[in-house]
Amino acid sequence: MKNQDGYFGEFGGAYVQEDLGKVLKDVERAFLYYIKDEDFLRELEYYQKDYIGRANPLYYAKNLSENAGGAKIYLKREDLNHTGAHKINNAIGQVLLAKKMGKKRIIAETGAGQHGVATATACALFDIECTVYMGEVDMKRQSLNVFRMELLGAKVIPVTKGRKTLKDAVDAALDDFVKNSEDTFYVLGSAVGPHPYPIMVREFQSVIGEEARKQILEKEGRLPDYIVACVGGGSNAIGLFNPFYDDKQVKIVGVEPAGLGLDTNEHASSISKGTTGIIHGFKCYTIQDKNGDDLPVHSIAAGLDYPGVGPEHCYYKKTSRAEYVAITDEEALEAFSLLSRTEGIIPALESSHAIAYGVKLAKKLPKDKVIIVNLSGRGDKDAIQVKEIFNSRR
Ligand SMILES: *Cc1c(COP(=O)(O)O)cnc(C)c1O
Repeated sequence: MKNQDGYFGEFGGAYVQEDLGKVLKDVERAFLYYIKDEDFLRELEYYQKDYIGRANPLYYAKNLSENAGGAKIYLKREDLNHTGAHKINNAIGQVLLAKKMGKKRIIAETGAGQHGVATATACALFDIECTVYMGEVDMKRQSLNVFRMELLGAKVIPVTKGRKTLKDAVDAALDDFVKNSEDTFYVLGSAVGPHPYPIMVREFQSVIGEEARKQILEKEGRLPDYIVACVGGGSNAIGLFNPFYDDKQVKIVGVEPAGLGLDTNEHASSISKGTTGIIHGFKCYTIQDKNGDDLPVHSIAAGLDYPGVGPEHCYYKKTSRAEYVAITDEEALEAFSLLSRTEGIIPALESSHAIAYGVKLAKKLPKDKVIIVNLSGRGDKDAIQVKEIFNSRR
C-alpha cells in the first residue's frame, strides 16, 4: 500500500486540531491492522459478493462504440451494485471496520444524499445506530433521499449553519466525531478529508479496478489503452485507477465537471482551475478565494459539486501519471441521452461526464484501441431533474 504516512507528494496530510488528530490516529491504526486481517477480508468479500452483487460486469458497449465510430468502449457496471452506485463499496467497508473497532454509533455527512443512503443501508445491514448530517438546503432539494434514509432507520439531522449545504454538514459531523469518539465512527464518503480517509476509501473502492483489470485481460487478452472516470471527490476514479497505477502503458484520464464552462465561475473543476490550499483538513487543489475560503461551485451533477479533490489525484496530476479534463453540463446531458438510447442504460449525471469524454476520445482513436469507462452509478435518481430541464426547453 502506497503512502501510509498520509501524504501524496505535498498533498494530503491531516491539518486538524489535536483532539481530532488523536481520534484519526486510532482509526488509522485499526484500518492498517484490519486491511491485512484474513477474517476481516473474508467477511468483506462475502458482503461484496452476496449483498452488493459483485463482481459486476465489464460490458462491451458495442452500440455506443459503433455510434462513436472509433475505439472500443467497455463500461464497468458499478450502476448494477445494490443501491445503484459505487458508494456502497466504501460504506460497507467502513461500517464493517467500525464494528470491528467496537463502535456503537455511526455518523456521516451527505450533500445530495447518495452517501447518506449508502451509509444508512450499511448500518441497517450491520444493525448499528446511524446519524446523518445534512444541510437544511440540501434536505429540501433531496427530500426523497431524506425519506430513504429514514426508512432505513437512520436519523437525519438538519444543519442550519453557513450556506446550509455539504461543507457545513462535514463540519457538523467532525464536531460530533470529536465529542463522541469513544463510541462513534465517522464514515466519510469520498477519497478526501484528513489522513487516513483518502487511503481507506481508496482501498475499499479498489475492488472496481481489480475486477476491471482481470475482466479486460479475459475479454481482450491485454490491458486497456485508456481508463476514464468522473472526479468529484475522486473515490470511484481512484478505485478504478489504483490497480492500474504501475501499468505505465495504460493512460489514465479523470473527468471533472466544467459546469457552464471553465471560463465562467460556474464549475467545480478543482484540478483544472484550482490552486493549492487546505480544505476539510487536507491539502489539495481547491477552488478558494485569497483568504482560503472556498468559493461556490456548480455542476449539473450534485455528486460532483465539491470545491476540493482527493490528494492522490492531485499527485497523479502533478506527476503526470494521469490527465484531467473537463466536461460541461451540456455535454454530460447529451451523453445521458446517448447512452440511454444506444445501450438501454440510463447513467447517473456524474457518470455521464465520463461517458461524454469516453465517446469524444473513442472518436479520435482507431478501432483496435480499448477504453474502459467507469459507469459509477445509474441515472434513475436524476430522471426528474433531466425531465424538468428538457421540458423547460420545449
Ligand atoms: C457521489 C458520486 C460520484 C462522485 O463521487 P466520487 O467520490 O468522485 O466518486 C460519482 N458518481 C456517482 C454515481 C455518485 O453517486
